[in-house]
Amino acid sequence: MDIEDIRSQREYVDHCKKVHSYSPAVNKILDLSASYIPDAEKAYRDGGKQAVWCNAIGWQVPLVYALDTIPVSFSEMGRLSDKETMLISEDYYQFPVETCSMVKCTVAQWHLRRNTSTINRILGNSSACEPYNLAWEIMKREGYDVYNNDVVYRGPTVEGKRLEDLISFLEEQIYDIAAWLTGSREIDEEKLRLEIQRKNRLLEKMRTILELRRKHPFYVRSLATILMLNVGLNSYFGKPEEYEEALDLLRGELENAPVNETDLQKVIPLVWAGGTGQEFGIYEAIDEAGGALLGLRSVPFKLYREDVPPVESLARWVYDNAGAGAGVYARNVLEHEVNRLNARGIILYGYIGCSFASVDREMWRKYFHERGIASINLEGSFQTGAPSGQVMTRVKAFIEMLS
Ligand code: SF4
Repeated sequence: MDIEDIRSQREYVDHCKKVHSYSPAVNKILDLSASYIPDAEKAYRDGGKQAVWCNAIGWQVPLVYALDTIPVSFSEMGRLSDKETMLISEDYYQFPVETCSMVKCTVAQWHLRRNTSTINRILGNSSACEPYNLAWEIMKREGYDVYNNDVVYRGPTVEGKRLEDLISFLEEQIYDIAAWLTGSREIDEEKLRLEIQRKNRLLEKMRTILELRRKHPFYVRSLATILMLNVGLNSYFGKPEEYEEALDLLRGELENAPVNETDLQKVIPLVWAGGTGQEFGIYEAIDEAGGALLGLRSVPFKLYREDVPPVESLARWVYDNAGAGAGVYARNVLEHEVNRLNARGIILYGYIGCSFASVDREMWRKYFHERGIASINLEGSFQTGAPSGQVMTRVKAFIEMLS
């Protein structure tokens, strides 16, 4: 399939597989990404396996796996949606047109699954955003069993006792989630410890891969990079062992791939400062313009502590990491990535209708501009076809300016 023929995100993934025909590892990762939601739903429906819709990021994932449940990322369900599905949210639930398309897609997918035998539990997170908070409230009315933990937020100056109080509060909420999911506040510490060790092991493997990518900047192109890191490293696509095997395979491929000096001379290292966009054409535009997403805002640098009880380790990781709330934490990650990679620029990407991320992006743009680091601010909606001329022109002009 040619890029011009692409009509949906699924077709983008197929196209990406073709582009990476030289790499069984990248193909495996893309297959895991594409089968994540259907396979999790099938395991729940046919195999009696417990599963829960959730953010599938950070601390939730080791916890949910330790409770013998598959964490199923609801934003992935939205991403594999289409424009017509999204319209359900506007027409049936009367979401304003300008509401973030990620949320509208997710709501529509839950709508289509109402009163079926699929996963009917949603683990929300009040720290996410107002549109998602609204979505969870609506889904409660539609018959889903929804649990929202309280907002997790650490202001930039919060230290000492205040910080310890926040950590204790989150620990209590983690036990509450266990009670909601299993009927008991008891958490098998040994299982959770093993999940934390798994997470740390995967983080270390990913760091090695990210280092190897510096010598092979075009081996894993932009879309595959985003899915491998933003989705895979968080959720393991519902299949931890297979995801780990794919990373091992990729590491072997990168270690054995010959270095192409021409690629090293022409590459424009970039840092991606956005979530996982639904507008896959943007990634294509970056690839076509000669950019390489070698650093991501969501790259988790910090390991989970293994010297404290495992529930405490989850809570400490949250407040000690980029997702602690204030935009400065994520900005520090971006700056670290820019310095580590000698990146030439930052791509700030967000959705139309996402008010809080647009504030963050504006603050980061100003901060990096003052330090002489170029950035481009892209705003997207659910644009499923080939990249639009306007996006191509802007991305190309930005990358040409950096070269
Ligand atoms: S892009 Fe913004 S509004 Fe949309 S789901 Fe993400 S945080 Fe929420």
